[in-house]
Amino acid sequence: MDFGTIAKPISEVAHNLGDYESFRRSFSWEAARAELQGLPGGGINIAHEAVDRHASGARAGHVAIRWLGRQGAVEEYSYRDLSRLSARFANVLRGLGLAKGERVYALTGRIPELYVAALGTWKAQGVFCTLFSAFGPEPIRARMAIGEARILVTTETLYRKKIAGIRASLTALRHVLIVGEDGKAPELEGTLDYRRLLEAAHDQFTIPPTDAEDMALLHFTSGTTGTPKGAVHVHGAVIAHHITGKLALDLHAQDIFWCTADPGWVTGTSYGIIAPLTNGLTSIVDEADFDAERWHEILERERVSVWYTAPTAIRMMMKAGADLARARTRPALRFLASVGEPLNPEAVRWGVEAFGLPFHDNWWQTETGGIMIANFASMDIRPGSMGKPLPGIEAAIVQAGSDGSLRIVDTPNSEGELALKSGWPCMFRAYLHEPERYRKCFSGDWYLTGDLARRDADGYFWFVGRKDDVIKTSGHLIGPFEVESVLMEHPAVAEAGVIGKPDPMAMELIKCFVALKKGFEPGEALKKELLAHARKRLGAVVAPKELEFMDNLPKTRSGKVMRRLLKARELGLPEGDTSTLEGS
Ligand code: AMP
Repeated sequence: MDFGTIAKPISEVAHNLGDYESFRRSFSWEAARAELQGLPGGGINIAHEAVDRHASGARAGHVAIRWLGRQGAVEEYSYRDLSRLSARFANVLRGLGLAKGERVYALTGRIPELYVAALGTWKAQGVFCTLFSAFGPEPIRARMAIGEARILVTTETLYRKKIAGIRASLTALRHVLIVGEDGKAPELEGTLDYRRLLEAAHDQFTIPPTDAEDMALLHFTSGTTGTPKGAVHVHGAVIAHHITGKLALDLHAQDIFWCTADPGWVTGTSYGIIAPLTNGLTSIVDEADFDAERWHEILERERVSVWYTAPTAIRMMMKAGADLARARTRPALRFLASVGEPLNPEAVRWGVEAFGLPFHDNWWQTETGGIMIANFASMDIRPGSMGKPLPGIEAAIVQAGSDGSLRIVDTPNSEGELALKSGWPCMFRAYLHEPERYRKCFSGDWYLTGDLARRDADGYFWFVGRKDDVIKTSGHLIGPFEVESVLMEHPAVAEAGVIGKPDPMAMELIKCFVALKKGFEPGEALKKELLAHARKRLGAVVAPKELEFMDNLPKTRSGKVMRRLLKARELGLPEGDTSTLEGS
């Protein structure tokens, strides 16, 4: 269906990216780097660019983070505050013996201490890794084990619920720092009090020389098979975080910016922590979970000017009705953006109906580290399209030739895999400890994204689907293997296959198919037991919502469950090539 275009809204603010083509021609990564300061002795460090640079200049007293607590508390942190608090945290890490490159994990939810921990870790040359607080113990254990977590910052509640039971298995973990809740000191054996340590630490810290290629971030993502993959990002990535925030989100220093993503996922770090700080603006951080009324209130009361959110949230707001939005005034709001899943054309248009502004879709992934394709503020929008590549980014549609070589497809609207020419600063540098899995993502200079897409005659990219079986549910990327493995732990389960089943709100729901071992009978009680087991081990986001018993699961002759076939049968679609099916 053709949804036409939406003309760019009139804006009183001059856009950072004016004419797309001429900006693209004149862009260079060297010039982008020159917008940042670099460390006094050379090199580049994310925390220096995000806070110390501003703390020693005119923006020192400007509010960097305005935190909205779940119960109504409000706390403000200026660039100076963040610089000093993160210096204290860096001193704490040094005192605890953290060596360069060692990993500091945070499992906290959106609280101010998370932001301080991230910045302090970068100052101390540690590697920061956030975990989504809605994960259950198993995804947490797997991610901490792969990254050899040395230090963990968490809250008392999350420690008791999710860490205490797995701590003994985390052999690399040396210290757990607990953020006490309701102002109280924690009372947990074998842990340290985050606040007490911070209070005792000195508030000055000189960042040691940091190379642009030093590892700074570890972000986990999921594949179709095997364990989660730890995508490694480096300090030099900050150049791209900064410039993509400036160009794709049109961030200006006077903005009040609200990125609704949780820092447990890459958007919440690249655009929830780093890009807004390097751009010197005020970020809203809301501790609470989605609530349509609350979100409308925040947009109005906090005078949000740039809002970066996700399709599932937009769809939930659409369900709550445009009247809720129209009942409020938001004179400051000027740019709406969305990422994480395909954004329906209806949702783009609904933005105009409800807020007087369209949503601008953009595309990227954990591996790319920053926005790669976007609908820019200065361009007309094609609803349903992801937009055009960022300056400095070369994107193409590729297909494998019959000899396995890569062919760039130039014919407009041909489908193929979306590929990006290597070399931008925030591209992942490795999957931790898995060089082979990393190597397989590339063909020559091209990084293969695993997404299928097409490009129209005017250069707009359109998302078609995933090449693999990875599931997107409510914006979260879930690996079916991780879910299947937990189901297989249950004594009744012989085989498990997990698929994403289309859902109007969450995009996909996790559905599992289970074959039982001899001696177990399918029934409602066992179904509930299996779903509860998965929920307890995986957490609500990752656990399947539906379960179906089967006598046998369709498998290849080599014994691999054919998820593709499970999905085709579930949706009543053609089964495609079944020549490798067992028994065929
Ligand atoms: P993650 O690594 O968790 O950020 O997930 C990245 C994946 O989300 C991409 O490879 C796409 O499959 C999907 N994705 C992200 N942004 C978009 C978008 N704007 N439209 C469609 N799919 C998207």
